[in-house]
Amino acid sequence: MALYKWRPLNVRCEALNERKGSTVKVLAKAGRDDIATVYLAETERGRRIEFVESVQPPIPRGKKWVLLLSTLYGCPGGCRFCDAGTFYKGKLSREEILSQVDFLVDWRFPDRRIPVEKFKVQFARVGEPAFNPAVLDVLEELPSRYDAPGLMPAVSTVAPLGAGDFFERLLGIKRRIYGGRFQLQFSVHTTDPARRDWLMPLAKWDLDEIAAYGKRWFEAGDRKVTLNFALAEGMPVDPGELLGRFSPETFLVKITPVNPTFHARRSCIESQVVPGGPEGDTARALRAAGYETIVSIGEPEESLIGSNCGQYLAASLAAGEPIAGGYTYEMQALGGSRHRDYR
Ligand code: SF4
Repeated sequence: MALYKWRPLNVRCEALNERKGSTVKVLAKAGRDDIATVYLAETERGRRIEFVESVQPPIPRGKKWVLLLSTLYGCPGGCRFCDAGTFYKGKLSREEILSQVDFLVDWRFPDRRIPVEKFKVQFARVGEPAFNPAVLDVLEELPSRYDAPGLMPAVSTVAPLGAGDFFERLLGIKRRIYGGRFQLQFSVHTTDPARRDWLMPLAKWDLDEIAAYGKRWFEAGDRKVTLNFALAEGMPVDPGELLGRFSPETFLVKITPVNPTFHARRSCIESQVVPGGPEGDTARALRAAGYETIVSIGEPEESLIGSNCGQYLAASLAAGEPIAGGYTYEMQALGGSRHRDYR
């Protein structure tokens, strides 16, 4: 497949861009309607952002539709597998975050009635959400902005130190608005503290602090709190370390691959799990320890599109080349030549 060959988006997309009050303008997209699409957009402040919509084949969009939103412009996290963590230029506003949802909803459901059984809005494209209080304003706004009975927000976080106020308010919002339908996920990645610090060099909660908050979070009827391990070679997961802190009644484990990114390649990080490969010993050990364990490998095509966790299309555009297993899709551009250089 040719790389970076730009084709015009269709007329309706142009029309959505012209909508009054919108604070982002979509410049281009890459992907497949039946799997995932990454949208590249520009905010009124001239900042380039991206967001994603995806489905999970063979589940139809009417049953599950997932949006992944950016909350920061870059990220100060610096995680060694993440292409978005190599620069940071500030927070997106409430309107800039909501405009991402508006664009996708208006594209698919112009009357803003969303008859999707599981309409997942994840704050998980670019940026650690706990660095931006506007995420909380968006969470409060979503239920009144759309008629979406299946709305299920999801916050995926590394739990940065100093974000205590964010997490307190988040807990209140979950209790007040989203009891039983909020997915909270902590990026843990390894139980070895030193290796964890190397992978995620920002100051963050340790396992004890995550456990204490998760215990407060979980109430009758809630979804279990997820401990995510993007499993890299040489990054141990010790079920004993987890069992001492995290009750299997309250927490579940999700194992994912380290996706193909430039930063992971520069950091010499290899994934322990790969599409089509076996689940591996870690999943077996966690199940034996009593944890509900999901191995979520996804479609290889998602990595080729660049829609997966840790991927950032702007990084491949800046590099001017794809990477083994990632970022190979061509872009569809909106309008004139000024949109053709996304860097
Ligand atoms: S993984 Fe999350 S916290 Fe880490 S650099 Fe990327 S966006 Fe930031």
